[in-house]
Amino acid sequence: MISFERVSKRYPEGHDALREVSFDIARDDLVFLTGHSGAGKSTLMRLIMLMDRPTRGKVVVDGRDLSTVSNRRIPGHRRQIGVVFQNHQLLFDRNVFDNVALPLVISGYDHREVGRRVRAALDKVGLLKRERAMPVTLSGGEQQRVGIARAVVGRPKILLADEPTGNLDPELSAEIMQLFESFSQVGVTVLIASHDLALISRLRHRILTLREGRLVTGGLL
Ligand code: ADP
Ligand code: ADP
Repeated sequence: MISFERVSKRYPEGHDALREVSFDIARDDLVFLTGHSGAGKSTLMRLIMLMDRPTRGKVVVDGRDLSTVSNRRIPGHRRQIGVVFQNHQLLFDRNVFDNVALPLVISGYDHREVGRRVRAALDKVGLLKRERAMPVTLSGGEQQRVGIARAVVGRPKILLADEPTGNLDPELSAEIMQLFESFSQVGVTVLIASHDLALISRLRHRILTLREGRLVTGGLL
């Protein structure tokens, strides 16, 4: 579903953020991406989302070489990808339902379909009863689950998460990881950038480790 072939990314300032990175992630995989700050994790995710393009090498997503996707087609490409952020980036002046509905409203879905899909997404993350709640009234773990519901409400093929448990205690972090596992079990490809080695080494999924832009084979940091 995601394949990198000798991908390098050099920023204009001359810094090599990724160097000859190659890997394949299959459709129903859940893979962790780790590495110190500055190792290139965000850059790698940005290339998958086409927020940036590689300097050399090939990125293939769902069978499509991304170099063939014109800038005009980027929004269509992004709709296949759900993104979860560490600080969940919720809109605090809107309730849970409206936060989750936002991507569908932007895409122009009709009212009934929005309601059906938002409730299906909230059900998956266990927040169906909180749809009218305002985000400030939720715990950190619940807010993160709203962020996950919003990421999956468009039924993406790929779910990317950047430090999704960064602000959560170990127990809540484990619950969030279980949610990601449940999406991978229904065929969503999941890639999670995380520093939390204690947590991710326990979960027995493949771990990609970046060190100064290079993929390190076999092992953690
Ligand atoms: P990580 O997510 O692992 O912390 P990043 O992908 O953010 O790593 O960064 C990798 C390297 O690329 C770092 O040295 C960072 O300073 C550099 N970098 C990231 N974004 C830019 C940019 N827009 N312009 C120049 N350098 C950048
Ligand atoms: P409904 O048709 O009732 O709205 P959905 O279409 O939301 O139900 O989901 C149908 C099944 O497919 C569920 O079991 C769901 O977990 C799974 N599924 C398919 N794609 C996704 C996705 N991107 N994220 C989460 N679950 C998905």
